[in-house]
Amino acid sequence: MKKIQMVDLKGQYHAIKEEVNSSIANILETSAFINGSDVKEFQKELEAYLGVKHVIPCGNGTDALQIAMMGLELKPGDEVITADFTFAATVEVIALLQLVPVLVDVEPDTFNIDVSAIEKAITSKTKAIVPVHLFGQCANMDAILELAKKHNLYVIEDNAQAIGANHTSKNGKKQKAGTMGHVGSTSFFPSKNLGCYGDGGAIFTNDDELAHALRGIVNHGMYERYHHDVVGVNSRLDSIQAAVLRAKLPKLDEYCGARRNAARKYNMAFAGQENIVIPKTVNGCSGICDTCDCHVFHQYTLKITNEKRDKLVQHLSEKGIPCGVYYPIPLHRQKAYLDDRYNEKDFPVTNQLVKEVISLPMHTELDDEQINYITSTVIGFVNG
Ligand SMILES: *Cc1c(COP(=O)(O)O)cnc(C)c1O
Repeated sequence: MKKIQMVDLKGQYHAIKEEVNSSIANILETSAFINGSDVKEFQKELEAYLGVKHVIPCGNGTDALQIAMMGLELKPGDEVITADFTFAATVEVIALLQLVPVLVDVEPDTFNIDVSAIEKAITSKTKAIVPVHLFGQCANMDAILELAKKHNLYVIEDNAQAIGANHTSKNGKKQKAGTMGHVGSTSFFPSKNLGCYGDGGAIFTNDDELAHALRGIVNHGMYERYHHDVVGVNSRLDSIQAAVLRAKLPKLDEYCGARRNAARKYNMAFAGQENIVIPKTVNGCSGICDTCDCHVFHQYTLKITNEKRDKLVQHLSEKGIPCGVYYPIPLHRQKAYLDDRYNEKDFPVTNQLVKEVISLPMHTELDDEQINYITSTVIGFVNG
């Protein structure tokens, strides 16, 4: 059996090696390292793939979130509601801009932000909601967009983990994750579903005026050379990363399909196992069907409900199976984000999830032998 990896970037590279090597060689020869033609071409190709009017490439997914909030002209003291159970980048940029992060609980089965908790947290100071499409599946966007409209709030989608996922609304309209709110952001960190070979990110919007504002902000607030109209930042996707992404974008659906395929095999092996809860996919599908395209499985995350999670992590590492706990500590209990407004009673789900979740190896190169070994090792230990 091949050695099991949490993510296998090398296998993916080998499949596109010639194209990537020749693009990179070409960039080295022309030396257009910044703002080369690949950046512009990638931008257009991603706009077409996502069905969104504007893609603004930038330096990474954290910058993308920050710049999105700057573009919306959120002001110090404005409250921004986001999920307690996510990567820290989401809350970090809110705090950095001196906005007030308001963390709320998530749903126990999808791990995504709980709409009723958002509603309870809205005050006269609330200006935006940041749903995070965690682990590769959209939050409940129908309800979030409706709530935002009712209260006149911006919706900023943190789509770092769900690029390529589809969302089907109640009215049947199908849209790509990250393109439904006022603005969306993503990351091209190497281990994300569409990863480059360094850092990269992008912002998406259908709003022409906002897109114009964002293009200036990523470039030192410049709309005309050496005229700085607003305080901006320097955040760029470089040409080499854009070339890598251009080689990978046409394969993104295939990559997502391979991940779903692995998830389906995991689901089938774990189905009905006591003490093991498989991830739930929404949009009316059980996650075991062949046609589901609502989940791109950035992570495949189980809940271990008999208090054996920590011992399982240890056991898997002894058996040569890498795994991860995303996330082990709720954000509202992180030192940097402590706030008197939080009450433990308001976070029952996150507080439980941090004790139960475990993410198994998930990438495009997993084979059946590896999946069988992983599932039988997990089941043997948890129910043993
Ligand atoms: C990875 C990630 C980010 C940050 O992306 P970087 O490119 O590493 O800055 C933000 N939000 C979420 C949910 C992520 O998973």
